Amino acid sequence: MMGEFDLITRYFKRPASQKQPEGTVTIGRGDVGIGDDCAVWTPTPNTQLCISSDMLVEGRHFLSTVSPEALGHKALAVNLSDLAACGATPRAFTLALALPSVDEAWLEGFSRGLFALADLHNCTLIGGDTTQGPLNICITVLGEVPQGAAILRSGARAGDDIYVSGAAHASGQIERVGQARFALEVFRGNISISQNDFDFDFDFARRRMERPTPRVALGVALRGIASAAIDISDGLLGDLGHILKLSNVGATVQTNWIERTHPQAVEFALAGGDDYELLLTAPQDQRDAVQAAAQASNTRITCIGQVTAELGLQVLDATGQPLSQTFASFDHFKST
Ligand code: ADP
Ligand code: MG
Repeated sequence: MMGEFDLITRYFKRPASQKQPEGTVTIGRGDVGIGDDCAVWTPTPNTQLCISSDMLVEGRHFLSTVSPEALGHKALAVNLSDLAACGATPRAFTLALALPSVDEAWLEGFSRGLFALADLHNCTLIGGDTTQGPLNICITVLGEVPQGAAILRSGARAGDDIYVSGAAHASGQIERVGQARFALEVFRGNISISQNDFDFDFDFARRRMERPTPRVALGVALRGIASAAIDISDGLLGDLGHILKLSNVGATVQTNWIERTHPQAVEFALAGGDDYELLLTAPQDQRDAVQAAAQASNTRITCIGQVTAELGLQVLDATGQPLSQTFASFDHFKST
């Protein structure tokens, strides 16, 4: 049976030949990655570090049926999504893993999915911890922003527009909020796709749930333009609530932008969760700049509402009338 250190060397410490392309290696001169007691790393001058951790627990954040390769992707994607929300450029990450046993097929798939996304964003694995236990994956990402340029939740001002991201996938389909939740409800058996005529592609929705795309380029492009941002993990309205609270403002949100592809489309778009799209606010005089940032990063962005001085969140139906339905966002410690 492979031991702890062999496992790390085999699956997580990459030989020089497997390193990222020339010019993108983020470990600099005198810096140290995996192998010593600490990683040692020199930040770029005049930048601030943005640091975020996200933990994935089996049964809580992913189903046991998910492929290890998708899990490797998602574990890093949800962390990169936090950097994106702050407008940070990814630099490095650490990986803390609890594994029930040494399953080489699992480790091979997991590390493949992990490094494929890491390489896409020039984000280097610089250390971690490995232990035996119930499957649990905790990643900490480190990113950089120019001094003072981080986009925070607290910057929204009355009169700002509210936007949500989405993107055209290579398949031509549009990635939208609500799709991951649709897939989850199918897995849970609450929606049957065999007996429906929904205008909705399950495989696409499943991909959205299992392999979310962090909007890193969009976040970076929005530096100096967005007044506030958050990535949507627990549901659009609930996550918007965090911006409103920290910015001490309210909002009006329209729903006419939501495609009614199935009966719960509005509910899933507003409160589905696991979307990893960016929700952001920007002053009205930045409208052109917001669209330019979206275009430059190959992302779509939709204006869905306005920030108001009056506190509280008002959601309007397609005809502009207040929506009576309320939506609960996801809360790990709330009993359902
Ligand atoms: P220590 O006991 O001194 O904390 P470990 O023996 O746990 O260190 O780890 C040895 C080296 O391997 C360290 O550099 C650590 O950062 C790295 N490491 C351990 N687990 C992982 C992992 N899952 N991914 C990447 N690096 C890891
Ligand atoms: Mg040590």
